[in-house]
Amino acid sequence: MKNISEVLEHVKTMGIAGHIRPDGDCVGSCMALYLYIKEYYPDIRADVYLDHPKPIFSHIDCIDEIKTEADGEKNYDLFVTCDVSSRDRLAVAGDYFETAKRTVCIDHHISNMGFAQVNHVRGEVSSACEVLYGLFDPEKVNRRVATAIYTGMVHDTGVFQYSSTSPETMRIAGELMKTGVDFSRIIDESFYEKTYIQNQVMGRVLAESIMLQDGKCIVGYMRKKDMDFYGVDGKDLDGIVSQLRLTRGVKVAIFLYEVETQTFKVSLRSNGKIDVSRIAVYFGGGGHKRAAGCDLQGSMYDVINNITAEIERQMLLEQEE
Ligand code: AMP
Ligand code: MN
Ligand code: MN
Repeated sequence: MKNISEVLEHVKTMGIAGHIRPDGDCVGSCMALYLYIKEYYPDIRADVYLDHPKPIFSHIDCIDEIKTEADGEKNYDLFVTCDVSSRDRLAVAGDYFETAKRTVCIDHHISNMGFAQVNHVRGEVSSACEVLYGLFDPEKVNRRVATAIYTGMVHDTGVFQYSSTSPETMRIAGELMKTGVDFSRIIDESFYEKTYIQNQVMGRVLAESIMLQDGKCIVGYMRKKDMDFYGVDGKDLDGIVSQLRLTRGVKVAIFLYEVETQTFKVSLRSNGKIDVSRIAVYFGGGGHKRAAGCDLQGSMYDVINNITAEIERQMLLEQEE
């Protein structure tokens, strides 16, 4: 696919959806597509489905039009997923994907095997938002659309820091800037800013973190009862794993929190030497070389032991390669 217009011919109704626990790239890409369609294809009736996006994304236009639940039977002419790496990660409107006449997947996960009819997946690109920008007419990207795309790019590149950031990423960011996006505010308020409680929780996780494998691996964790004590949920724990990764000497950072008793959400980050997507895929998850995740069952110690054993195995393989 070269341009999104290719899949919009004869389309009258369209659904757009992202992955569970949507991050900035997911919200940004879904909303950018939604705003673009609303603006330039007014004859298409589009709906956007996202699993309760965080309030930090309220600077994106029409965020209040998001549907957080499926509502009745629908047969969309077209259903597009953005930033979704596999069918089981699709949130909220999964049934509409099945009943749609045509399905399109726009993504950038190397673990994506292509689960739609049309798959536009570019594993080398830093964000789904960047992939999506490539499908738009550049002159049609107005400030509203640009704000959504810029948000996603900022979030998935760690403010243009991760190695996935390319000269093309920066060129596009420059084009978006020309539309007048409030880039300082987007970066500060949606990416860096934390609440007092979030900072307290991060401090606690860092203080209790453990170093393993001669300091090559660091593990942080949060139990359900402690999350309840602080009154935080998974959405409040963003950024903790990135901070763990910034520990000198660490090659892989692991952060896990208890979603429900004996069920953990695991986040993995690498400094580039170890491919953490391989580890995540091994445990039924997915992601990218430097940022990946999975969901695991068992006691906290089992989860930590299983993950770190696999990391150790990968490190040994790495040495051999
Ligand atoms: P996170 O640690 O949740 O920020 O996720 C890092 C990356 O891994 C993101 O690109 C996610 O899409 C991906 N990821 C996280 N959890 C899973 C999972 N359970 N299955 C597949 N991919 C995941
Ligand atoms: Mn994502
Ligand atoms: Mn992404």
